[in-house]
Amino acid sequence: MSYKVLIANRGEIALRAMRACKELDIKTVAVYSTADKDLKHLKFADESVCIGPPSPSLSYLNAAAILSAAELTEVDGIYPGYGFLAEDANFAEMCEKSGFKFIGPSSEIIKKMGDKITAKTLAEESGIQIVPGYKGEIPKSEDEVKKIVNKIGYPIMIKATAGGGGRGMRMVKDESALFNSLEITIQEAQSAFGNGTVYLEKFIENPRHVEVQVVGDGKGQAIHLGTRDCSMQRKHQKIIEEAPALDINELALKETLEACVSLCKKIKYEGVGTIEFLYENNEFYFIEMNTRIQVEHPVTEMITGYDLVKAQLRIALGMEIELIQNEIDFKGHAIECRINAEDPITFQPSPGLITKMHTPGGFGIRYDSHIYGGYRVPPYYDSLLSKVITLANTRESAIKRMLSALDEFFIQGIKTNHSLHQDVLRDKTFAENKHTINYLEKEFLPNNYE
Ligand code: ADP
Repeated sequence: MSYKVLIANRGEIALRAMRACKELDIKTVAVYSTADKDLKHLKFADESVCIGPPSPSLSYLNAAAILSAAELTEVDGIYPGYGFLAEDANFAEMCEKSGFKFIGPSSEIIKKMGDKITAKTLAEESGIQIVPGYKGEIPKSEDEVKKIVNKIGYPIMIKATAGGGGRGMRMVKDESALFNSLEITIQEAQSAFGNGTVYLEKFIENPRHVEVQVVGDGKGQAIHLGTRDCSMQRKHQKIIEEAPALDINELALKETLEACVSLCKKIKYEGVGTIEFLYENNEFYFIEMNTRIQVEHPVTEMITGYDLVKAQLRIALGMEIELIQNEIDFKGHAIECRINAEDPITFQPSPGLITKMHTPGGFGIRYDSHIYGGYRVPPYYDSLLSKVITLANTRESAIKRMLSALDEFFIQGIKTNHSLHQDVLRDKTFAENKHTINYLEKEFLPNNYE
């Protein structure tokens, strides 16, 4: 049987998906905006279709244009990647209604998990620990609101149930800012997401970001592929990720992994997904589930040998997960550095022509990227250029190997955050694995760059 997939994305993830399709003998259709006609994966696709001008809203976010391309090329499935339409329940539903397989969970599950209150409720019902808080309707009476918040304890976080991408949340330190912040968050959520429903959470002051990779077959079977630590972040954007997360309380880890699998079994989750937690004082607190492949998926692939993108495609074709839980062999430690087209100090995007470059390679080094010498980085999209991933027996060796890989790696013509990575990799707090989600912005950058 021949199967044909439209890859509804660009950049490194489009190339990653194309490689997986080839290994499975799946035919591919690439779609691109007029700014992206030189993308690497277009050269390897069986067919390619221009879907519009550079602006994402007119191309990669344009559901009608993508579905027209799918009809024109008579594909069976649509691969969403991450970002753009990957977690858009309406798009998934349009695919379903037009007779295309959306490669991921059903639109119904995407909708449920995209609504943070529903997701928290489902997680809690499966035994996952959630951030303590309040997810009922916010009472009209100010006294009642005060009572609820005092019970949670300041500081709190006001979060929009429909929020995403770091938007739709506000921290409140004390009662003086409470009602004003509530009003603003509700108004903003209403105008940004068309849904003004908010809920309250305890603000977790200095946690690590630890997430669990899951895979479900859509029929009630599910497994986990362990944890990743993505605490090195700036403005909620991950910069360095690793697998597994180290120095985690054993009992809390065991219970959390089991509860994550229970959740996936209960909702008959289909495809790959990530359950994200804040981790502090030996406790996991659920924040959200991402119903798609993540940028940092390679670190999990490296320590398990399990190809997550191929798993997405195979499951969409109705095949089994391939592995049962106790067959998964976690080996070594993997680290990923995200090389972005941006100034390493001001973080201003730096698009433009790559005049010359050299990529790293060698034992235990993986390089995932769509860029090449002579490629012009367009200014319209995410600044991610390359992911450098290293695998070694220990965390310490993986860091050493990354430093050596980065020594070989250069990109000329545009600015990148390459030097920031080198500095972080040599940092003592990072080496000791003592950094939290606040470390880069609050300590490392002020101490080293200001
Ligand atoms: P989004 O869907 O917008 O990414 P998340 O719920 O995943 O929102 O939260 C994004 C980030 O905001 C988290 O990684 C964390 O840094 C911070 N955050 C969210 N909830 C809390 C909380 N209760 N306490 C402290 N930080 C939080």
